[in-house]
Amino acid sequence: MPRLMPKTSPIILSTWTFGRIANAAGWPVLRRGGKAIDAVEQACIAVESDPHIDSVGIGGTPDADGNVTLDGSIMLSPQMSAGVACVRYYAHPVSIARKVMEKTTHKLLVGPGAEKFAAACGFKKEKLLTKEARDWFRKWKIDPEHHNFHRTSANRPNREEARLRRKIAKVHDTVGVLAIDSHGAIAGACSTSGWAFKLPGRVGDSPIIGAGLYVDPTIGAAVATGMGELMLGACATFLAVERMRAGDSPRQAIQTVLERVAKSYKLKKRQQCALIALRKDAEWSSGGLVSGFRAAIITRHQNELQEQQITYLPA
Ligand code: ASP
Repeated sequence: MPRLMPKTSPIILSTWTFGRIANAAGWPVLRRGGKAIDAVEQACIAVESDPHIDSVGIGGTPDADGNVTLDGSIMLSPQMSAGVACVRYYAHPVSIARKVMEKTTHKLLVGPGAEKFAAACGFKKEKLLTKEARDWFRKWKIDPEHHNFHRTSANRPNREEARLRRKIAKVHDTVGVLAIDSHGAIAGACSTSGWAFKLPGRVGDSPIIGAGLYVDPTIGAAVATGMGELMLGACATFLAVERMRAGDSPRQAIQTVLERVAKSYKLKKRQQCALIALRKDAEWSSGGLVSGFRAAIITRHQNELQEQQITYLPA
């Protein structure tokens, strides 16, 4: 009699409150014994398709020229990984990245090249800019100094301006998804429209392997959200997985990444770098430089949204 391999208990974890939407789409794949790579892709597609989510896919916030440009990546292993960046007209960067991973020897396609590839793969063009996002862009365009939290205005904002700034400061976020399937395979994916009113051509951490997403099938995985420039400089998710390789728990690994970022940058108030780290044995953790990050989780015994487990407080 052939010995049956022990089955792993599946798990899916996704960033932010909209992670619940992601998990609701990804979990059925895992529950029926499907692959982690399909689960993370389906999870991202669900969030990318929702026009009410203003930082991912359709309904994403445009750049400073009024164009919605999307970044995303998918990963099973260093060899099986790819990203796409600055993609217009196509709502599902993770699915395009998966085709890059499966059909080419490349790791990253950007802009018109990525769009041409998407068309050749049969992806349908979609309108990404919703009316809400266009109205938001027009308000920002009229008065970018007051509506762009990247800049510091000499004038103290009145209450209405302060409210708008707070709202704009929230217009980013990435759906990042990590999953282990019942065969023990681990996969990750992430997708975002990036920073609201970013400079045209700006690419964040999400499509860059090792910055926004990293998976080593023998160790574990990590995915990030927040100001991509922080994760890019610190190779944040690569570092998290390397720390787990060295024996750190997911919690310790995140702590080390946050310390590294805090020590390497002159951080501005409330600049976020947040991560989920998942080890191969399904132990996981989440944490950020500032409070407010959440991770949605589904296992056979659990379906909930959890506040971040670590908040790094610089000394
Ligand atoms: N990391 C994303 C970017 O910088 C945005 C976010 O997750 O908040 O493009």
